[in-house]
Amino acid sequence: MTHTRNTPASPASDRPTTLPADGFTGRALRARTEPMLVRPLRDDRYVVETERGTYVVDLDGRSCTCPDHAIRGARCKHLRRVAIEVTEGRVPPPGHRRAVCAVCGDVTFVPTYERGPQLCDRHGFAPGDFVRDRETEGILVVTRVTGERADEYETAEGRPVADYETNADYGGHEPVVEAVYLESVRALGGLDTVGDAKRYGFPASRLRRVDDGPRLTAGSPDSADGQAEA
Ligand SMILES: [Zn+2]
Ligand SMILES: [Zn+2]
Repeated sequence: MTHTRNTPASPASDRPTTLPADGFTGRALRARTEPMLVRPLRDDRYVVETERGTYVVDLDGRSCTCPDHAIRGARCKHLRRVAIEVTEGRVPPPGHRRAVCAVCGDVTFVPTYERGPQLCDRHGFAPGDFVRDRETEGILVVTRVTGERADEYETAEGRPVADYETNADYGGHEPVVEAVYLESVRALGGLDTVGDAKRYGFPASRLRRVDDGPRLTAGSPDSADGQAEA
């Protein structure tokens, strides 16, 4: 699997917190044990609230507005703390924002530019993933995860995906995943032909990843009946 999104480690706190000392010393120790609250800003920087003041950290630019950094040029405890919290999944990395998975409701980090409903690592898909359709048991290959909701995404017939009776048990708020039936890819001559096969749109939770992919016995050739054609 090729899922690269970061999974948050713990729920966000709205009060300054400390981290275990873990045998660190000096600034590295203070970065962990002094109470701080890290909050991401919209421009990829972070606000760090401490008992002594509030500072702004630019992780990519390796700068902080505190005197320790401004005067001594040190890699201050605030910079270190932000780096630790990003590594531990407590705040989103630069270029990412918090989102809620449309299937399970867990918090996940997604690229800031991503719009529409989002999925966590557990419920997300990447192009090329092999999936099983819960309704027909057919095996498909994912071609795209759209940012469109199942009750908004229209098929070639001009109907929203969520309108199809076979999709009644899945959330209209879920993102639509486009996929092609493995049978049709095989009929066309192999995985290189994925782009030529007929695409279908599914509410995300209707598809389940199968990790041993093409070695599985594919669904019956007529498994496309009743699907929402993309
Ligand atoms: Zn600082
Ligand atoms: Zn999820």
